[in-house]
Amino acid sequence: MPNPPKDADARRAIAPVICYPVETLPQPDMARYAAAREGMVKMDEVTVPPRDAATFSVPAGHIFRISSVEGPQVGDLNLWNADNLSERFYSGKTRALHGTHITTGDRMWSSIPALRPMATVIHDTLDWYGIDSFGGSVHDVIGTRCDPYTHNLLAGGQYHHCCHSNLSRALADHLGVSVQKAEDYVHDVLNVFMCTGFTRDTGQYFMKASPVRPGDHIDFFAEIDLLGALSACPGGDCSVVHSSDVAECHPLLIEVFKPRQDALQGWQAPALNGYDRTHGR
Ligand SMILES: [Zn+2]
Repeated sequence: MPNPPKDADARRAIAPVICYPVETLPQPDMARYAAAREGMVKMDEVTVPPRDAATFSVPAGHIFRISSVEGPQVGDLNLWNADNLSERFYSGKTRALHGTHITTGDRMWSSIPALRPMATVIHDTLDWYGIDSFGGSVHDVIGTRCDPYTHNLLAGGQYHHCCHSNLSRALADHLGVSVQKAEDYVHDVLNVFMCTGFTRDTGQYFMKASPVRPGDHIDFFAEIDLLGALSACPGGDCSVVHSSDVAECHPLLIEVFKPRQDALQGWQAPALNGYDRTHGR
């Protein structure tokens, strides 16, 4: 290892700056969202079986809720623009803007070139959790999704119920295409209810038992027409292992609500990103 420079400590002591200050982002109108939740009417529900996934549709201006039922369970969420599947949830930029975990008031941003809010978190019964003493928090945008390829690298074998495969099968059934074709649209997820962080000593991704309990839920406002897919992760509450049939797993419930009519007066879906895409040419 090269010798550290004489001013190594001084260089390390330089204070960080936030990469993406978010003060100039369009601020979500939380009062409007709160009004929309009041008196909302349930339109649809989908139950996601353990170690499997299901798709669901949410019209722009509606609200969807993901709930823990029966027992602690983590869910891997994919979102697409219902009219254009190439616009999909952009986990990496959402992380860059809002941090490693999202909660009430944060947005799920879509991929470039659209880069606009797809959904806004408007209520989260776990937002009391904050950041624990290990650096862990809930609703993770740092993990990708458990997948059979990484599992094959690390442990060998063919495991078919990782979130990546569950999402691929559910999307294939929805679109009426092969699972290999559907797989191309599956992307990095929001890990709903998952409690994760990076270890302070080695910087490694860790998970720990989710604090979610039956009845806990997270509510999202759909900013555009959405197609969603949710996998009930084979890791269950992700306290021990994932990518196997070892963990105890539970279903997850998705409900779609129509907001009170007058609450959305004057509301408009976010426009596509304003960059002109000429890239200097
Ligand atoms: Zn998973």
